[in-house]
Amino acid sequence: MNFQITHPKELKPLPSDESKLSFGKYFTDHMLKIDYLENNWTNGRIEPYGPLSLSPAALVLHYGQEIFEGMKAFRQVNDKDKLSLFRPDKNANRFNLSAERMCMPTIEEEVFVESIKAVIREDKRWIPYSEGTSLYIRPTMIATEEALGVHPSSEYLYYVILCSVGSYFPEGFNPTKIFVEDKFVRAAQGGTGEAKTGGNYAASLLPTKRANSEGYSQVLWLDAQDHSKIEEVGAMNQFFVIDNELYTAPLKGTVLRGVTRESVIQLAQDKGYKVNEEAITISEVIEASKTGALQEAFGAGTAASIAPVGELYYKGTSYIVNKNQVGKITQELYESLIGIQTGKIEDSYGWNIEI
Ligand SMILES: *Cc1c(COP(=O)(O)O)cnc(C)c1O
Repeated sequence: MNFQITHPKELKPLPSDESKLSFGKYFTDHMLKIDYLENNWTNGRIEPYGPLSLSPAALVLHYGQEIFEGMKAFRQVNDKDKLSLFRPDKNANRFNLSAERMCMPTIEEEVFVESIKAVIREDKRWIPYSEGTSLYIRPTMIATEEALGVHPSSEYLYYVILCSVGSYFPEGFNPTKIFVEDKFVRAAQGGTGEAKTGGNYAASLLPTKRANSEGYSQVLWLDAQDHSKIEEVGAMNQFFVIDNELYTAPLKGTVLRGVTRESVIQLAQDKGYKVNEEAITISEVIEASKTGALQEAFGAGTAASIAPVGELYYKGTSYIVNKNQVGKITQELYESLIGIQTGKIEDSYGWNIEI
């Protein structure tokens, strides 16, 4: 697909201080759009970044027919003009799985990846240079048909926006405090937990706000049926290290198929660790914490890459993990992942795709 390009009259000034970028605040000069009309993706274009014009009756605004992706572009440490995406084919694939679940049209993997490269090429200057920073990419699809009857939209808009983001750990790679949520749930069997769709995140706001007000940075989600099996942490996949083996929830419909999760599993296995993709309960984790078998815990997702967990709060009791220090395996996996993404370590997997 060819993308017609229109530039803004004036380019925006870049954020002046890369140490204060934080997340999702500094959007670039351009955005990419493709319309879905009459059963076809058409009119691919790159335009100045700006507000959308949408009917107030657009289906997305009423029934939440929406999906998105989250990925990053990095400058390579040895050649800062060299830009790479991390496993974008995985995001394309997941975007289409989300689309199918939400009754939306799929988009060819090649169009998805090319659309992202095309808009990044226009906004290269927005990719920050300092360690820990990157360009965050948000491909999105929304239902745009003007109608109030509950039905799948006949028209959609796919768009890609970009923003400069700072290090997830501006105060250093420190363990976080996690609230184990035993009342609210993120996803149920048969629901939409496996899709990256807005409604899942809307439903997570209240429990997360309550956890934040108690001093916890995220919630640990348990399964909807009996509130025992560990599913995810915030919008990240959760890992535990118990007796030198890794544990993470299996992909059975309620857990998001994290690209970071898959990469961490591969890296850990290649370092000689056993990885168990099987359900583990909060009682088992607490038991392991009491006997000392629980060595480490961390979340894995694009935004943080790896976020160490230092404390779990469950039913009135705090359980400290690894004396509230970053664990050895957590550190090792973090360095490998970031190292590959930024070209500090050779990418023997072919995960980086040059832009
Ligand atoms: C996006 C997301 C993840 C992480 O996926 P990555 O591809 O690793 O970024 C995990 N859980 C949830 C709920 C998510 O939305």
